[in-house]
Amino acid sequence: MSKQFDPREMISPPWRKCPSCGRDKFGVHIISGSRLLRRCRDCWHKQFYPLPELRKRIIYLDQFVVSNLMKLDNPGVKGHERVVVQPFWRELRDLLFQLRQLQMICCPDSSSHEEESRISQYNAQLKKTYEALSGGIVFKSFDSIKSQQIGELARAWSERREAEYDFDPRRVLSGNPNEWNERFYMTSGDNPFIVPAKLKLYRTELHAHMSRLFRDVWAKEKQSFRYWYDLDRFAYQGHLGNAVVRSTKERFEAVLGYRPGTEISLKNLEKALPSFAETLLAGLQHIMRFPRDGRERPSEEISRLETEFGKANRIAEAPFVRLQSLMFAAIAMRAGQGQKEPPDEGTTTDVETVAHLLPYSDAMLGGVRR
Ligand SMILES: [Zn+2]
Repeated sequence: MSKQFDPREMISPPWRKCPSCGRDKFGVHIISGSRLLRRCRDCWHKQFYPLPELRKRIIYLDQFVVSNLMKLDNPGVKGHERVVVQPFWRELRDLLFQLRQLQMICCPDSSSHEEESRISQYNAQLKKTYEALSGGIVFKSFDSIKSQQIGELARAWSERREAEYDFDPRRVLSGNPNEWNERFYMTSGDNPFIVPAKLKLYRTELHAHMSRLFRDVWAKEKQSFRYWYDLDRFAYQGHLGNAVVRSTKERFEAVLGYRPGTEISLKNLEKALPSFAETLLAGLQHIMRFPRDGRERPSEEISRLETEFGKANRIAEAPFVRLQSLMFAAIAMRAGQGQKEPPDEGTTTDVETVAHLLPYSDAMLGGVRR
């Protein structure tokens, strides 16, 4: 026997006296944004009520925390016994969910959670755990955060002022964290553009690259913290430039290699699309060309602005570039001081995550990797 859906079941206590029919059937129907909709179960009378304004704290939980909270609630998963006997994890879980229900915190998820979960055999359980805490509020991609920060540097340069960052989390989140939690939240399935095997390969390559630097450069050349920090952040603009050249070349080859009437391979299709570096460059050119007052700058002025922006290496001042360079400089110093083993594979993800999300978070909670 199937049960018929009764829309009145969406209305729940606490009950109040209905202003229309007078019966005590005036309950909570929908909470959305900063409004509460009450509705009468008997006469269907409705009324909106404003809710107090919220200022939730943004707490970022890294994959180590998400993974342990997942193990706590899944007896079938390896590591469950180890987590269950540590009171810390139970207390942390209860506290986080309490604060979330009190509308005091928001724990957004990010592409790091998604990617690290997709290469785990427990992806479904991990996704359920981080989404229960985020309620579907997600940090935008790291590329989008990069574009915002570098875009502000370019705009400031074209307006002859210093770049200003307020690090308002609403700029980098999929939704407004200060809205009241709805009783239900929407999430989506696995991102089809994330291919776990490709992701694994990419991470292995990144780690091999860092290990080489660790052993062959950082451990051998004894340099100061400042030296490594500046070397790394001033090199970022060059990496972007190289990426533009490489993807332009690859697209040219992909287009030349295409024969009409044949199926274009996924690999070539990827190369045929503009890369992040190219999109960023086009964005910077747009900013230099069109000031905010609606004019269009003359071409000599545009090219002068672009050249000077590059010469001054303003991109080295982007908050995410400075943060990741600070962290890599710290790792370089440890190599110089005799640490034998390079940091593990997760470290590059940690560095990337902290560099992009720390300025927008009130706190970050994570495990310490060696
Ligand atoms: Zn009524």
